[in-house]
Amino acid sequence: MTAAVPSPAPEARAPELSVIVPAFDEADGIATFLDRLFDVLQACCPEHEVWVIDDGSRDDTWTRLREECNGHPRLEGVRFTRNFGKEAAILAGLRHARGRAVVVMDADGQHPPALLPQLLEPWRAGRARIVAGYKVARTGDGWAARLNAFLFNRLMLMLTGLDLSASSDFRLLDREAVDALLAFPERVRFFRGMTVWTGFSTVQVGFDVAPRIAGERRWQTGQLMRLAITAITAYSAKPLALIFRLGVFGMVAALLLLIQALYSWVTGVAVSGWTSLTVVVLFFGSANLLGIGVLGAYLAQLFEEIKARPPFLIRETLCPPKP
Ligand code: UDP
Ligand code: MG
Repeated sequence: MTAAVPSPAPEARAPELSVIVPAFDEADGIATFLDRLFDVLQACCPEHEVWVIDDGSRDDTWTRLREECNGHPRLEGVRFTRNFGKEAAILAGLRHARGRAVVVMDADGQHPPALLPQLLEPWRAGRARIVAGYKVARTGDGWAARLNAFLFNRLMLMLTGLDLSASSDFRLLDREAVDALLAFPERVRFFRGMTVWTGFSTVQVGFDVAPRIAGERRWQTGQLMRLAITAITAYSAKPLALIFRLGVFGMVAALLLLIQALYSWVTGVAVSGWTSLTVVVLFFGSANLLGIGVLGAYLAQLFEEIKARPPFLIRETLCPPKP
């Protein structure tokens, strides 16, 4: 007797494209953004759905989205119980999207919808499973955003070998790549790095980062630092190796000082090592703390994984179910 095989999801009902839009406090710009997005989608990809993930906005984003439901029958959305972060919002979108391809893009208009046909073309032609938007220019970004991005990307390159300098979350993934990402068991996620890690054939498409439709960037420096720590600890054990090297360096330095101390003792020179001693104590004291800090970052990551809490909680869904 053969086991019952679950019937596959009806492929015919899956739209060609799902667009995932994480949104946090985007009330002022979301309607304009959706108008622009749906205009482009009607023209380039009539079989589509759009999932806006309201990441616990404190403003009227959700109310605006509900209003938008009437004009846009293909709009879907979920609202988190609180702000869980952009990575969680992207994950929620990936879980809900049914499209044969999925595009992730920001809600603030900085990822121009007009680029969608160019993202779709290599995928439709079968040339790539991932079509990644990369930032040719950052005209829409202020100096603080550029400096943050620069520091973050340098650190990532140094420690993980992943060059994310021009990369962005604005990218198209084939269903196969989406399913691969969803199968990852890890809780702590870094979307951009994970898609690069999968190794699926990728084509890059350049775009100019547009100015925000409204408001300021939502990331706070603290959040960005947490993202950097997540990204680094998830993709590299190099900081641990660096601590080891620092330890070796410290031992060599200590050995040299020991030789010097012994030499002074043998030759009868009065002990005058107070300065060097202070330097050594301070240096290795702080190096110890730094080392413990790095270990702590990895431990925190493990703790997050082991707790295995859901990465987000959904408060409500947007539009009434559609036929
Ligand atoms: N975002 C989010 N949750 C957050 C922070 C940001 O969903 O906690 C969304 C935000 O609404 C926007 C996108 O992520 O659609 C990018 O955020 P932002 O524009 O602040 O960052 P940047 O453009 O500088 O990367
Ligand atoms: Mg932005």
